[in-house]
Amino acid sequence: MLRIVIAGAAGRMGRNLVRAVIEGGPDICLSAATVEAGDPVLGTDVGLPAAGREAGVLATDSLARCEAEFDVLIDFTSPQALAGHAAHCRERGAALVVGTTGLGPGHHQLLAAAAENIAVLHAPNMSVGVNLSLSLLKQAAAALGDDFDVEIVEAHHRHKKDAPSGTALAMGRAVAESLGRDLEACAVYGREGIGDERSRETIGFATIRGGDIVGEHTVIFAGPGERLEISHKASSRMTFAQGALRAARWLAPQPPALYTMRDVLK
Ligand code: NAD
Repeated sequence: MLRIVIAGAAGRMGRNLVRAVIEGGPDICLSAATVEAGDPVLGTDVGLPAAGREAGVLATDSLARCEAEFDVLIDFTSPQALAGHAAHCRERGAALVVGTTGLGPGHHQLLAAAAENIAVLHAPNMSVGVNLSLSLLKQAAAALGDDFDVEIVEAHHRHKKDAPSGTALAMGRAVAESLGRDLEACAVYGREGIGDERSRETIGFATIRGGDIVGEHTVIFAGPGERLEISHKASSRMTFAQGALRAARWLAPQPPALYTMRDVLK
């Protein structure tokens, strides 16, 4: 039986993750679930807001006080919460699946350090379709080369905190790698006013935020006389939750190392 802890169980992703675990079949169970101090869900059964039925697990605001045994912690919360979650997993010898986006270089160092002792997987997007699109993008960029201008457009709901999305950046990195470019050097994040015309090396990002858009990404390869667009549209957060569970099932028996969704799907 795979025992799961969901961090941030009251969040948009957290509720979907709780539901995915409690509906996930006999080989998986919810061991504990955390929320932030002061969250109205604190102390109540996390199954009710997530799936409309009891899960037998009360939301806690302290993993340290929680004695439940677990195999994998799934973290879709905020970059600030990462250090505590990684330390707790190292202490317990449990695996860590991180879906949180907006991580900086310090967070990536922290994940690499944790991966010396435990299995860690980080993916800015857990959907199968997005991870497949990363391979398609590499293939398209290699075939189209420098004659095609690359622009990435992404849209998310009004509450999303980071921009551009972690997925858009991962798509940009996949294309840049294929074209032999450094994304840090060639990325342009939004344009305004009168300036020079577009330089060939640029990979442009445009961000849309509004309403309840779950997540949409389009990479445009615009060339002479034709345009290729590779798009992914998520219509339900359950797709990310199912991807995270697939990652957790795969990760639990792995030796300590830092993994990505590519490892899970190959
Ligand atoms: P959200 O704001 O709805 O949920 C985050 C929750 O985490 C909140 O309820 C917050 O109170 C809680 N939280 C913060 N710190 C905590 C802590 N220390 N302990 C316990 N709970 C804590 O946001 P969301 O839409 O669910 O997204 C969460 C993260 O997941 C974001 O970074 C988002 O970009 C990312 N995301 C990743 C994927 C993916 O496939 N990898 C998909 C969707 C969202």
